[in-house]
Amino acid sequence: MTKKTFPLSKTELERAAKEFITPFYIYDEEAIRKNARRINAAFSIFPSYINYFAVKAMPNPVILNILREEGFGADCSSLTELLLADMSGIKGENIMFTSNETPAAEYRKARELGAVINLDDITHIEFLEKTAGLPEMISIRYNPGPLKMGNSIIGNPVEAKYGFTREQTLEGFTFLKKKGVKRFALHTMVASNELNTLYHIETGRLLFELAAEIKQKTGISLEFVNLGGGVGIPYKPEDEAVNYEELTAGLKKIFDAIMVPAGLGNTGIHTEWGRAITGPYGWLITRAIHRKDTYRKYIGVDASMADLMRPAMYGAYHHISVAGKEDAPPTEIYDVVGSLCENCDKFAVQRKLPAIETDEISGDLLIIHDAGAHGRAMGFNYNGKLRCGELILRADGGISRIRRKETPADLFATLV
Ligand SMILES: *Cc1c(COP(=O)(O)O)cnc(C)c1O
Repeated sequence: MTKKTFPLSKTELERAAKEFITPFYIYDEEAIRKNARRINAAFSIFPSYINYFAVKAMPNPVILNILREEGFGADCSSLTELLLADMSGIKGENIMFTSNETPAAEYRKARELGAVINLDDITHIEFLEKTAGLPEMISIRYNPGPLKMGNSIIGNPVEAKYGFTREQTLEGFTFLKKKGVKRFALHTMVASNELNTLYHIETGRLLFELAAEIKQKTGISLEFVNLGGGVGIPYKPEDEAVNYEELTAGLKKIFDAIMVPAGLGNTGIHTEWGRAITGPYGWLITRAIHRKDTYRKYIGVDASMADLMRPAMYGAYHHISVAGKEDAPPTEIYDVVGSLCENCDKFAVQRKLPAIETDEISGDLLIIHDAGAHGRAMGFNYNGKLRCGELILRADGGISRIRRKETPADLFATLV
């Protein structure tokens, strides 16, 4: 069980809603920092550790800056994500560039910033050499194919477009070495939103075994292995969060059994977690403005799937609480819906909730939980929807805006 919490009282939230106007995202700085520290502490048993925060999960420089202060790097996969990392003070090899089908300009930018380039395909060795030159340090993204079952969001590795096959990985390292590359790393990413600790430990085993084989067949000692992202968060109250200490203890046991005897005891363990870093510490706040009784009972809110599309896109569960009614009995069954002209624009379907008051000004404030990763970032402008802004709650209780709401002018800015 995971208790769903929110750091503000109803009065404090109403005050913020008056000042900033709903809908908005709000992120808890202190909770994000504490979480980052716990992760760093759990992984400190390895020779080196860094989490390259997946920028796509939360592309806001204020948050990236906070994570940089906690020792994190950035995992980027596009030109603008590279620019965001750079403007947040994340530099050089603290940036991992894990892209695919990469345009030359993006490789050039990654080279210019001194990022660790993580190649997605064997043909990219020559492509990178031709377009941006080969750096001294290179990582290869490995796709284990039939050796590993993926999970439902990411799909089966055999059907995944990402990465080198096992044979290509060995061939790729040999080729890179011949080309004069000096330092090497290995990466994989086979899960998304996976809560099973054992699954992540087994991903480690897969990489450690391959690292030992690479050492034996090519003489290359990897500088680090990158386990990718994909650690889940407990979206549902009945879900259990991944226990970081259990995860790292399990990884360490296999590391000691495989890497140490292979002469790879100095290899670092790196990760690219996004969701697990900020997901539980961000909330979408929206006001209940309309109520409709037809074949079902609907609560219409002032946010829409353009602000948070996970429920519509994946049927994902996001817990909803009603400010000030956290302990009220859930006597009603509602669909909580946005205003987009798509019937999938529902934050909750047939959800048990306390009776909700609706009004543009005095309606109940709904707190949509676990929206701190892949939330605002996945928003879009279909139906002319203007995406909402973002706030941060500081440790001293102060609240400031870190992204304003979009305006019609933003939407029309690209028209010729
Ligand atoms: C999306 C992504 C991540 C982050 O995934 P989370 O589920 O947010 O941890 C990390 N690495 C790569 C390559 C990704 O595409």
